[in-house]
Amino acid sequence: STIVSLEDVERAYGEPPVLACAGVSLSIEEGELVAIVGPSGSGKSTLLNIIGTLDRPTAGVARIDGRDVAGLDDRGLSALRAYRIGFVFQQFHLAEGVTAVDNVADGLLYTGVRLAERRRRAVAALERVGLGHRLDHRPHQLSGGERQRVAIARAVIGDPPLLLADEPTGNLDSVSGAAVVELLHELNRQGTTIVVITHDTGLAERLPRRIVVQDGRVIG
Ligand code: ADP
Ligand code: ADP
Repeated sequence: STIVSLEDVERAYGEPPVLACAGVSLSIEEGELVAIVGPSGSGKSTLLNIIGTLDRPTAGVARIDGRDVAGLDDRGLSALRAYRIGFVFQQFHLAEGVTAVDNVADGLLYTGVRLAERRRRAVAALERVGLGHRLDHRPHQLSGGERQRVAIARAVIGDPPLLLADEPTGNLDSVSGAAVVELLHELNRQGTTIVVITHDTGLAERLPRRIVVQDGRVIG
């Protein structure tokens, strides 16, 4: 079924209003691996925030994981993010001085799972991304590619049906970037729907579907 559905979504900023998102309609089905690709200023961050329920449309309908975000209050949206959506960012956003296991375990911080169980699942998630031999390493002891894989493990520890990855290879060399792309394919084969937001057409071309945005609109 459809996991992301945007219908004529607009997002206006400022006065007079500027439309960062100017009537976007798109559907993403469960099981897809798709890139939202466009140049700087095309509205990608705005779409990421709307699909990730960090922001609401100023017009139109956003249905994420089957729920119309207009029908959820901030607590409802927080719960949707905590249980149903994983986030990966260009800058990794790992806690310095904290081991890989505990960084990953933090992905379950707001779900009420106890620490010992969070750590047990963190070990499993790190094994899933090929880092079973880096459990007690801290971010500064890991390569860029390994840090991003820790961040991905943290994003998927709760098995969210939807993973959003914002420029996931933006800080990586081409070899580490290719490994991260391969990992996204693998997680997708295991059932996670993945949306990659990027300006990198080379990255987008390595994914099975591209949604091209420009000036706040879908153009292809
Ligand atoms: P991208 O991520 O593709 O660079 P954005 O979604 O960040 O695009 O921005 C799309 C457009 O909306 C740009 O013209 C940008 O200046 C504008 N915009 C984005 N966020 C804001 C904001 N908070 N206030 C005003 N304008 C914004
Ligand atoms: P950039 O791509 O500009 O380097 P990031 O990849 O760090 O920035 O973040 C991209 C987007 O994700 C921004 O819109 C930011 O507000 C949002 N963001 C960053 N970190 C978090 C977080 N921990 N939780 C929720 N949203 C975040």
